[in-house]
Amino acid sequence: MERRVRGSVLNAYLKYIRVKWGEGGVKACLKDLGLTHDFKDGEYYHDEMRENVLRWLSRTKGREYSQDAGKYVVKNLGILAWMVRFVNVQTLVEKFPQNYSEVYTFGKVTVDLSKDKVIAFRLYDVNRIEESCLSWLGVCKGALEMTNTKGDVRETKCLVKGDQYCEFTVDYE
Ligand SMILES: [Zn+2]
Repeated sequence: MERRVRGSVLNAYLKYIRVKWGEGGVKACLKDLGLTHDFKDGEYYHDEMRENVLRWLSRTKGREYSQDAGKYVVKNLGILAWMVRFVNVQTLVEKFPQNYSEVYTFGKVTVDLSKDKVIAFRLYDVNRIEESCLSWLGVCKGALEMTNTKGDVRETKCLVKGDQYCEFTVDYE
């Protein structure tokens, strides 16, 4: 399966860089990666571009920004941003697998709500680099914040480290 991602995600990462380091930051990133900035929100691009932007962030700015960027992106992606104001965290996570496949053409996400006050997200064939895992950690944390849910998120299994999939466990109140 071709690994592609919607332009809206790439644009949200670039927007994060712009907010943090200004237009100069975006230019430096695009120049370093040999990219031209004309991603269209509704079109699909090679997911390698997303990975490269994340690698660039981690390499030039610091590892901690991978997570921060994921948090920013989930809060600024149109689809989720307007919706979550009206929902609790359970409703949001139930919609997550479908939202995922609208944005990414590869991999699969499942949500396990079988335990009380615990949510387990499993990402199959999604992450190939550690920075991507960290950005998903940020996405989960951002989702908690957006729904005013108190809780904690950990990556409890990781494809990059040899597990069958990446698993993010959310313990919430
Ligand atoms: Zn992982």
